[in-house]
Amino acid sequence: MASKVVVVGSGLVGSLWAYMLKQRGYDVEVYEKRPDPKDLKVPAGRSINLVITSRGLRGLEVAGLLNQILPITVPVYGRCIHPKSGETLFQPYGRDQSECNYSISRWELNKALIAACLQAGVKMFFEHDLESIEVDQKQLDFKTARGPLQINYAHLFATDGAGSIIRKKLAEQHSGEYNAVIDWLDSDYKELQLAANPDGSPALEKNALHIWPRGTHMMMALANNDNSFTMTAYLPKINPPWNFSQIKSEDDVEKLFQSEFADAISLMPNYKKEFIAHPQGKLATVRLSKWVYQDSIAFLGDAAHAIVPFFGQGTNLGFEDCTTLLKLLDDANQDFKFAFEQYNIIQRPNANAIADMALENFVEMRDKVGDAQFQFKKKLESVIEKEFPQYYRSRYGLITYTLVPYHVAQAVGVKQSQLLERLAKNLKSPEDLDLILTKEILEKEFYPWAESLGVQTQSYQPKTN
Ligand SMILES: Cc1cc2nc3c(=O)[nH]c(=O)nc-3n(C[C@H](O)[C@H](O)[C@H](O)COP(=O)(O)OP(=O)(O)OC[C@H]3O[C@@H](n4cnc5c(N)ncnc54)[C@H](O)[C@@H]3O)c2cc1C
Repeated sequence: MASKVVVVGSGLVGSLWAYMLKQRGYDVEVYEKRPDPKDLKVPAGRSINLVITSRGLRGLEVAGLLNQILPITVPVYGRCIHPKSGETLFQPYGRDQSECNYSISRWELNKALIAACLQAGVKMFFEHDLESIEVDQKQLDFKTARGPLQINYAHLFATDGAGSIIRKKLAEQHSGEYNAVIDWLDSDYKELQLAANPDGSPALEKNALHIWPRGTHMMMALANNDNSFTMTAYLPKINPPWNFSQIKSEDDVEKLFQSEFADAISLMPNYKKEFIAHPQGKLATVRLSKWVYQDSIAFLGDAAHAIVPFFGQGTNLGFEDCTTLLKLLDDANQDFKFAFEQYNIIQRPNANAIADMALENFVEMRDKVGDAQFQFKKKLESVIEKEFPQYYRSRYGLITYTLVPYHVAQAVGVKQSQLLERLAKNLKSPEDLDLILTKEILEKEFYPWAESLGVQTQSYQPKTN
């Protein structure tokens, strides 16, 4: 039996993980069905830009790649809401500007990670499409331009994305123990482009995530490094008032934009053509009942846990898989069996928690952010967070600016929502909050409970040098 360490899939998670394994001295082979991205152009309507937050930054920091990646990101300090009528409204994310999200093109990030792998000596085999796996023989079968290829492995890392063939085959070959549940979202998305102004300046505020919340649907915009924006329109697949099935022609697209996103029209001269031409992306939540098989297979990234993108955490979670498994292997002196078992116990509940919260956030982004009561509670929470930073960190802050486990952040969020409900009662303005009473509740009830779960309120600050 060969003692190879094999990674299948060189997306964001597979390439970061292969790089980390190489740093630990493993002779890593990576098999990827696509060509090397440096030889390709970004596919139209499939660029996707992501926000990287604490857990993603941590992954890059641990690999020693953060300084290389940060210069190709754009800091994002808050949400800019575009109502149907009236002024835009800015809602800051963090306590101050030291807390921000980083927008980056998925394509550029992937290219940079793959280049780092190649430079480090990782063996990369592009255009190798995994067709089958015999789990108990530790055998992989690929389709390549030169014909079929069969290889064996000692340890296999499945980073082949949301549609993972390894996950499918494992569930077929060990069906009692492994099952994957895939829940498709009832909304799809289309990507559109908003170019920089003719003088090269950005046409919207660059350091914000722009949202056009419209109840059942929405549009979002995130800046790219060249001052253009990637816009993503999310609409239900079917059912009124606006849905993909009814939009068949450029006239239909125009009607949608005139009615829903009118302020964006003048900035997007090609929106009608792009909307018709670009692919309609699908979104799903994937939950796998067990992420490891003996000491031979571990799943990381979307292959283990695709989640919907509304908390901006899919990659962040995938990078956290990498830092978690790396530490477990180090702590266990590279005992794969023990580290794999621990990884399954520790990280799976985190993925389930953020999967739930990402689904909830869809409702928040498309609907609640524009709602007066929601905005009132957000302002109240911001007052509490500023007045009592030692006791209170919002759920959003815990997820995006700390490394507190996702499942702990989820539990804290439930308590926080009850607390905000209680404090908001009979309050006319967030500024009228009774600070003495609030401090007493936080000091005596809320914080001791949160602290017992290991919650820390300070932000994680990665070392950039
Ligand atoms: C619209 C949208 C917005 C998003 N926004 C954010 C965000 O703001 N923040 C965030 O953290 N996340 C975000 N995400 C999620 C993020 O894109 C994913 O979580 C991330 O790309 C997962 O990385 P991965 O490496 O696990 O999988 P992928 O990136 O899917 O990589 C899988 C790789 O495996 C390869 N592969 C597949 N099958 C085979 C095979 N049979 N043989 C060989 N190779 C194979 C693929 O070609 C691919 O290269 C967003 C996703 C979407 C759709």
